[in-house]
Amino acid sequence: MRLRLAGLRATLPRIKVLELLRELRGHHSADELVRVLQARGERLSRASVFNVLHDLCSAQLIMLTDAGPGRAIYEVADHRHHHFVCRGCGQVYDVDCVTENHPCLAATGLGEGFEIEEAQIIFRGYCPACHQDKAEEVD
Ligand SMILES: [Zn+2]
Ligand SMILES: [Zn+2]
Repeated sequence: MRLRLAGLRATLPRIKVLELLRELRGHHSADELVRVLQARGERLSRASVFNVLHDLCSAQLIMLTDAGPGRAIYEVADHRHHHFVCRGCGQVYDVDCVTENHPCLAATGLGEGFEIEEAQIIFRGYCPACHQDKAEEVD
């Protein structure tokens, strides 16, 4: 079990949340995950789902992206990548990371003594469908 490899005790809530993210694939907010778990009759409170998400993030088994404003999304951390967030429909797309370095950007100007774990890049703009809608509005 990957939980143990990552140094986490494999508690049932952790297994449930990690498996749900694997099953659903893609990007999901904590509230979405709570909703699915509750709809399935799992006895997991919102607070414990949030705690589990926090633990899984710390162990780098899942990845948290701030797709903002106010939108935190989680996904299984199986490959390093960035995101494109559509300003129109809010859809989140994966964007390949172009370098093998980690973090993949130099934190120029930050100074000495920082331990940098990652650099997340959010591309923003419009997806093809929303771009099309915008173009039509203008006409
Ligand atoms: Zn869109
Ligand atoms: Zn992603």
